[in-house]
Amino acid sequence: MVQEKGTISIHTENIFPIIKKFLYSDHEIFLRELVSNAVDAIQKAKRLVSLGQFQGELGEPLVQVKLDAEAKTITISDNGIGMTAEEIKKYINQVAFSGASEFLEKFKEAKDANEIIGQFGLGFYSAFMVADKVEIQTLSYQQGAEPARWICDGSTTFELSEGNRTERGTDIILYINEENKDFLENYKLQTILDKYAKFLPVPVQFGTKTESEPDGEDEEGKPKYKEVEKPNIINTVKPIWTKAPSELKDEDYLSFYKELYPFTEDPLFWIHLNVDYPFNLTGVLYFPKIKNDVEIQRNKIKLFSRQVFITDDVKDIVPEFLMLLHGVIDSPDIPLNVSRSFLQADGNVKKINTYITKKVADKLAELFKNDRKSYEEKWNDIGVFVKYGIVSEPKFAERAKDFVLLNNVKKDFFTLTEYREKVAPAQTDKDGNVVFLYSANADRQHSYISAAEKKGYDVLLLDGPLDNHFVSHLERDLEKTQIKRVDADVVEKLIDKDEKIESSLSEEQSKELETVFKEAITKPGMEVSVENLSADGLPVTVTMDEFMRRMKDMAAMGGGM
Ligand code: ADP
Ligand code: MG
Repeated sequence: MVQEKGTISIHTENIFPIIKKFLYSDHEIFLRELVSNAVDAIQKAKRLVSLGQFQGELGEPLVQVKLDAEAKTITISDNGIGMTAEEIKKYINQVAFSGASEFLEKFKEAKDANEIIGQFGLGFYSAFMVADKVEIQTLSYQQGAEPARWICDGSTTFELSEGNRTERGTDIILYINEENKDFLENYKLQTILDKYAKFLPVPVQFGTKTESEPDGEDEEGKPKYKEVEKPNIINTVKPIWTKAPSELKDEDYLSFYKELYPFTEDPLFWIHLNVDYPFNLTGVLYFPKIKNDVEIQRNKIKLFSRQVFITDDVKDIVPEFLMLLHGVIDSPDIPLNVSRSFLQADGNVKKINTYITKKVADKLAELFKNDRKSYEEKWNDIGVFVKYGIVSEPKFAERAKDFVLLNNVKKDFFTLTEYREKVAPAQTDKDGNVVFLYSANADRQHSYISAAEKKGYDVLLLDGPLDNHFVSHLERDLEKTQIKRVDADVVEKLIDKDEKIESSLSEEQSKELETVFKEAITKPGMEVSVENLSADGLPVTVTMDEFMRRMKDMAAMGGGM
């Protein structure tokens, strides 16, 4: 029996075509929204129980997603608080529709579905992205409540009538339209649920799965197994980031990592984030093995809000250099539904940025202090990360002064202070500046390096992808320090203030010699220079271009050039 019929008063005939069209690219979000609502309804029931305001049995909390491909329906059921007819009018009709005209005004500006849905309380209405008709069957927890049914066919009219639910909770039934029939596939729904619902705090069941279970022994005493149907539960209700670090072992962190990123190498170490003031944030960040692949490793941090997956794109939420990390951040305080430019200016986001940066710096400082040897062994991976942080994030650079390492061509490691102290005696110039020498290519600059070493100088190796930036940063930050490439003429003039080695050749002789060598050595990529390089007086160096050298090596491996 129809209890009430109504018309929704908005200026525009029908907002659903607009919702559908506009939100096109993100259709799958409907499932996240409806499952989240189901979880919310159960959490509310639990809260009422703990407040002593709930009569009767709570039962086992469960959200179920059911697919009926034949009937072309997807049903999301929960045993949460349910709704009375009055509540449906209030929460489903009014809330969404009051925002509708505003929505129509603003939808033109928004850039993605997330922005729209959250801003206008359209979570429930995202159902109309995929369904022509949506039905609610619900029974409220309140004493004496009657089951209610609401149905809406995507026009601006709805129908509210008596429902058929006999147990507390809600079914949302979606009649999937032709365009979206993709969603009527098991595999597709499973994939979407894995993406958004994997860590929700209430069990979410999607159909059943067969598992084999021990079933006694056969005549020969061998164990027997039987196939049993079990509920297919999508999620882990208490993922590690919601636990206290003291409850967790290394294995827990490692297996969670494997769960998030199957087929990857173990991470180097991790940080458990947990703060509740002045903002709420939990999470676990892992340091992967970076191996100089700064480019391909990005976007591995997953952002959650109360255990609901939101996005892989954490740009603007974590500092640029931390995008190299992997893991999970969960914060209800990150505004998820506003534009990116707004996000950058948001106070909480700024604080979160600062907090994460500080935690990462603390962790690195601690690792360095507690086990320097292992820190040095990991430097190959950590180094890229630390240098990236130094060149891009002043707050991090300030902290990193204490744990950034330099390594010389002999592969010894030094902190900045240690290195300055080590080289100061031999490498201070006339003006009192300590000169750091470095090579960006130890092979190609071999002769320069050995020449410098023969003079008792030390040469750093700075041949990583970020070292160019890093060097200019260091030079800006270190007082009375100059950083020079080992082939620069400074090596000559540097420290031998008075006893500069006189060239054994006159200028004319040098020129002649150079001509002779250049004529003799015609191979492409070879360079000839005549200068008084080394203390033992060899005046000519012939070097080969790095690119040519590699080509030659490759040709040699491939069997001739
Ligand atoms: P939001 O979740 O942001 O409040 P929605 O549009 O997703 O916005 O839902 C609107 C309201 O409808 C909810 O706040 C809740 O009161 C009610 N509601 C939706 N789904 C359920 C459900 N499964 N059980 C009980 N109430 C629900
Ligand atoms: Mg919602």
